[in-house]
Amino acid sequence: MESTSSPVEMFFFPFVGGGHQIPMIDMARMFAAHGAKSVIISTPKHALSFRESIHRDQQSGRRVFIEILLLPDNIDIADSDMSATPVTDTSMLQEPLKKLLLQRKPDCIVHDMFHHWAADAIDNLELNVARIVLNGNGCFANCARENISKFKPQEKVDSKYEPFVLLRTGTSLCRTIQEREQSVDRRAGIVVQQEQSVDKAERGKKAAIDEQTILSWLHSKPPNSVLYISFGSSPRFAPQQILELAHGLQASNQPFIWVIRDVFKGEGTGFLTEFEEKMRESKQGLIINGWAPRLLILEHGSVGGFMTHCGWNSTLEGVSCGVPMITWPISAEQFFNEKLVTDVLKIGVRVGSLDWLWWNMEPWVSVGRDMVEEAVKRLMGGGEEGGEMRNKARVIGEMAKKAVEAGGSSYKEAIALINELKDRRRIIE
Ligand code: UDP
Repeated sequence: MESTSSPVEMFFFPFVGGGHQIPMIDMARMFAAHGAKSVIISTPKHALSFRESIHRDQQSGRRVFIEILLLPDNIDIADSDMSATPVTDTSMLQEPLKKLLLQRKPDCIVHDMFHHWAADAIDNLELNVARIVLNGNGCFANCARENISKFKPQEKVDSKYEPFVLLRTGTSLCRTIQEREQSVDRRAGIVVQQEQSVDKAERGKKAAIDEQTILSWLHSKPPNSVLYISFGSSPRFAPQQILELAHGLQASNQPFIWVIRDVFKGEGTGFLTEFEEKMRESKQGLIINGWAPRLLILEHGSVGGFMTHCGWNSTLEGVSCGVPMITWPISAEQFFNEKLVTDVLKIGVRVGSLDWLWWNMEPWVSVGRDMVEEAVKRLMGGGEEGGEMRNKARVIGEMAKKAVEAGGSSYKEAIALINELKDRRRIIE
């Protein structure tokens, strides 16, 4: 830990790839923009996906650095294809991380919760380093989960599809959790993602399509007419489910951009090639096979809807770009995020996905083509309901942008955390 006058040193220890790595990198860059010295701890392969953007920050004078943890025999964790899952074991990073912390004694470390060993390993060093956890979820989902485990409302219903009351906003438990998250002692605090500044075209990974192709396709479409469809960094669908989605989209007659990652191997590939060809000829749809420059697309004026799996990053991106959504939750806390979008914020329609799927479960068809077509028409078809949602999404998007501008709530919270770490330094000294 350095003297009280030197900038606060914040270590960021993202998970290896997947949807959790992107917001942690954004956060490190955002705190550096606010005057902290940010150090991102990564491995050789995983650092490849963000080192260019960090380099650009350094050139503009920001104190943001990458610290590589080296493993024996040049081995690395998982691979660099953003394919890590919550069960990917990263414990081989424990010793190099401990060594680094003992050497550098930063003011704080923000670590991803999927480094399951990190909390104990860091606390046991007794270094007085403030430890903050990124669990990748928002306050709403955290409150919902806490209520589930405390009051067990799910045990009072007869079937897995029967609804139950989970939380009423403003309840004391909800407030307690928010207060805890904002508490002064962040020894084991939780950091909740805020909207981030990003290099849009190169975020996460190199895009599989060039910026110009996307932009000229989007420019050719009327305002608010295009539906953007993407299901996160590691989507899994049954081949038949992809077919249902394709048929539903075609029947809706709505222009769309659909990001199909490597989800459709084997059976049915012929259909998809044909479909892609047909959509290109009719100019109804653009299909991206691989990683898409998400924010570049979502911020375009022709995009009027976002079909999403409701991952928290995706939800935040939809909200902050002011785009209403078609929600298709699949796993993790995505069903909670769907509730937030549809019932609380009222900026989205459900496609009707009801079945929660864990990483190691075989996916099945849960949404038929008619359901897809109906949801697309409700949101994008020019009706009153869709129009209201679009207006509301725009207003909420403006609020989200204001929150990260100078004087906004997120902006102030970031500075408050830096100041708190400075104060903490004085107390420890
Ligand atoms: N993403 C992207 N291009 C893609 C697919 C995903 O930029 O083609 C980004 C997306 O913008 C988001 C993240 O990957 O920031 C996915 O995170 P989210 O929490 O939504 O879902 P997860 O991948 O964790 O399920």
